[in-house]
Amino acid sequence: MKFGVHTSIAGGLENAVSHAKRIGCDTFQMFSANPRGWRFAGPKPEAIERFRAARAKSRLSPVVVHSNYLINLASSDARIRSASIEAFRRELERARALGADFLVTHPGSARDGGRQEAIERCASALREAAHGLKLDRLTILIENTAGQGSVIGRTFEEVAAIIAAVRHHLPAGACIDTAHCFEAGYPLDTAEGLRETLKHLDRTIGLANVRVIHANDSKTRFASHSDRHEHIGRGFIGKEAFGRILRHPKLARIPFICETPIDRPGDDKRNLTMMRKLAGKS
Ligand SMILES: [Zn+2]
Ligand SMILES: [Zn+2]
Repeated sequence: MKFGVHTSIAGGLENAVSHAKRIGCDTFQMFSANPRGWRFAGPKPEAIERFRAARAKSRLSPVVVHSNYLINLASSDARIRSASIEAFRRELERARALGADFLVTHPGSARDGGRQEAIERCASALREAAHGLKLDRLTILIENTAGQGSVIGRTFEEVAAIIAAVRHHLPAGACIDTAHCFEAGYPLDTAEGLRETLKHLDRTIGLANVRVIHANDSKTRFASHSDRHEHIGRGFIGKEAFGRILRHPKLARIPFICETPIDRPGDDKRNLTMMRKLAGKS
């Protein structure tokens, strides 16, 4: 099994690699630029070289990039839509330049109009952003959401519909976030609920299309539709349920990556250790 955390690029992209290695990750996730800015300038070629060299030496795999939070591929506002497509194209270019395996993105928010239209807008925005780009081995992963407000991707069906609509144009799969599942109303916290949820996941998205799991506990209650991550075992999903998730044979080949809070230095390493312990792999 592969375990990792989301690591910081503060001070240089290659710091994400060295930190992940230092705390004992097998894999990691990072941003490739400021996740809350529209800054279009990419990293310099030297910075990309340093990152690639550090990554090759580290043997960490897969490398996952999470896209910018301001991007809204489902927006019906022409200005936001074109800025989002432009920004997502830069995300694709940066992730490919870094040699990343996966680029994770949230599907976006419907605001006005129906959810079906929003799903179609998201899929067409993805196709437009990737048009004519050489992606090498980069695969785009659509992440399920807690379903706050008019955000799409709350159900596995919505994520599956986006993947199906882009699949013939670009390599696409899913990233499943455990906190988002629970907050969206999938009862991962009980043995029966986990069984039903995985069955449902397999019938809709297909387990083979789930390439990354974001392993996060939830600070908010079941079906809250409010996205707040908690340390593994300390939220409403809880330790026992996380043990069942981490030991589930159908999930064993999928990398688990924490996006848990860092309230004190070392929290990322503690969550990594906790995952391995609950998986029976420490
Ligand atoms: Zn995310
Ligand atoms: Zn996530």
